[in-house]
Amino acid sequence: MEFKDPAVKARVEQAGKLTKKIFGNKVYIRGIIEFSNCCRKNCNYCGIRRGNTSVVRYQMSPDEIVAKAEENLKHGIKTIVLQSGEDLSYTKDVLVNIIKRIKALDPECAITLSIGERTEEEYKAFKDAGADRFLMRFETADRALFKSLHPDDDYDYRIEAIKTLQRLGYETGSGFMFGIPGEAPDADDHNIALLKELGVAMVGCGPFIPAERTPMEGSGIHADLERCLDIYAKIRLAMPEVNIAAATALDAMDKGARKLSLSAGANVVMPNTTPAEYKDNYSIYERKGKLDDAIADAKKLGAELEKLGYTPLWNQRGDSRVK
Ligand code: SF4
Repeated sequence: MEFKDPAVKARVEQAGKLTKKIFGNKVYIRGIIEFSNCCRKNCNYCGIRRGNTSVVRYQMSPDEIVAKAEENLKHGIKTIVLQSGEDLSYTKDVLVNIIKRIKALDPECAITLSIGERTEEEYKAFKDAGADRFLMRFETADRALFKSLHPDDDYDYRIEAIKTLQRLGYETGSGFMFGIPGEAPDADDHNIALLKELGVAMVGCGPFIPAERTPMEGSGIHADLERCLDIYAKIRLAMPEVNIAAATALDAMDKGARKLSLSAGANVVMPNTTPAEYKDNYSIYERKGKLDDAIADAKKLGAELEKLGYTPLWNQRGDSRVK
């Protein structure tokens, strides 16, 4: 790729070399199951916010979730990411049961939860049931901007939730969006400093892409690919051993950007293995084109990575080196 700024080019190359030194050519694989697109919250950019009445809502049953997790495991995907809107109809007991059933299928697998804010008691119950990791993004370190995007949320509560998850022993991931309208020119530096201060084990960052039929619809994509790669590079250089996910949202702005981010610091890919009949309705942001069949898509991604000289790590959990 042609870089406009030679400093960014140098940083991306340095981060790529550091990633290779630490992880070799290995790329960790996680299979995402988006099990519900119902959400109690009304984030102003999100396609599945509760106020969006045009969304066809779905909730996978526990049996469907466990069956999809089993299919992932059979195909060598050893980390199952259970992701949803903040859907409290999946009670503590329901989720505990799902986690236990997946762990019973394969005690060596890793389960990551990405289900938003819950009580400490619930986080503990999920951990005790066998959940290993938790993704909880803070989205922006700018508290005024955080409030304007998330009318139902409190910045301090979110940061405390991340710390609680760490204290409970989760391998905890966080991250932010870049290119948010109104962000400060040095927003990326503040966001990366917060990731470092929190000492997270995993990072997931992506461009701000408001969905249609939301209050922020049409506010556009404000981050170009060069800035995306620069942010991944900066994170890798600041936090050498952290697991960095190549965000699927990158492909929404530039086809192939996700794979390109592996050369700028990312070391994790997260194919979407949600059943085809549901995944088109999990539109947090606008996705380009029709999504393929879940597991076949993951296998295709693995083959593409091999062609590029990477080694996708099937049958391995890919735990974070950051403890
Ligand atoms: S960003 Fe998350 S919490 Fe906010 S509306 Fe979307 S799914 Fe719900």
